[in-house]
Amino acid sequence: MTDCRANPKLWVIGMGPGNVEEMSLKAYRVLRQVDAVVGYQLYLELLTEILNPGQEVISTGMKRERERAEQALALAASGKEVAIVSSGDAGIYGMAGLVLELKQKKGLTLKVEVVAGITAASAAAALLGAPLMQDCALISLSDLLIPWSVIAQRLELAARADLAIALYNPRSSKRITQLERAREILLKHFSGHTPVGIVRNASRAQQEKVITTLDRLLDGPIDMFTVLLIGNSQTFSCDGLMITPRGYQL
Ligand code: SAH
Repeated sequence: MTDCRANPKLWVIGMGPGNVEEMSLKAYRVLRQVDAVVGYQLYLELLTEILNPGQEVISTGMKRERERAEQALALAASGKEVAIVSSGDAGIYGMAGLVLELKQKKGLTLKVEVVAGITAASAAAALLGAPLMQDCALISLSDLLIPWSVIAQRLELAARADLAIALYNPRSSKRITQLERAREILLKHFSGHTPVGIVRNASRAQQEKVITTLDRLLDGPIDMFTVLLIGNSQTFSCDGLMITPRGYQL
């Protein structure tokens, strides 16, 4: 077992999709042992049951990633054992990259260790059956940091390559048209009957799951708590499941 006291000062923890049961044992143990936990308010609320009363908890609002990373690095540099939390996996649209970039930019010598978590695509795939059995792509529709032209090209190439696609950050109150445009791009290569799994709040109290098609996808319960899994040309749905055959001769 890893002794977190003997290890790096700043832990970047992927806490999984939301339910403590779906967090790795390592993430759980580190979170219970550190002096301070830094994270987005909503995720820290999901962790209330496991944090100790003696731990310092620093919560920041949405879109405060840089502030959060700076705070965590400063606390760790001051000698505390600190964990900064991302939902899902910290290395997939999470805090890992920003923390490591800032640490390098500031020339800090403190150690950072990233702890893997179950990403939304895996959590959703498990709820939907087996939609990601062949090659797949993860694509975020958020164009806040990446230009839309780049995202559009990635969607186009993934669809041309017949990859199953997990769409993260599909729609927010301010970003509505991206999903409509993404669907149009995908329809150039995929049939409108392609199965699409929509999973909202995977492993959280308000979990919802819908299986629909690319044609009808926009009617689903889609917001920033939703991940969409688009099947490839071989994916089929039956009995409330989505299956992408691996290629076994049955
Ligand atoms: N690091 C996270 C992704 C953060 S980006 C991970 O690995 O899962 C935020 C996006 O992730 C959301 O807009 C949504 O598309 C997806 N997401 C994160 N948690 C989710 C959950 N529990 N259920 C459904 N989608 C989720």
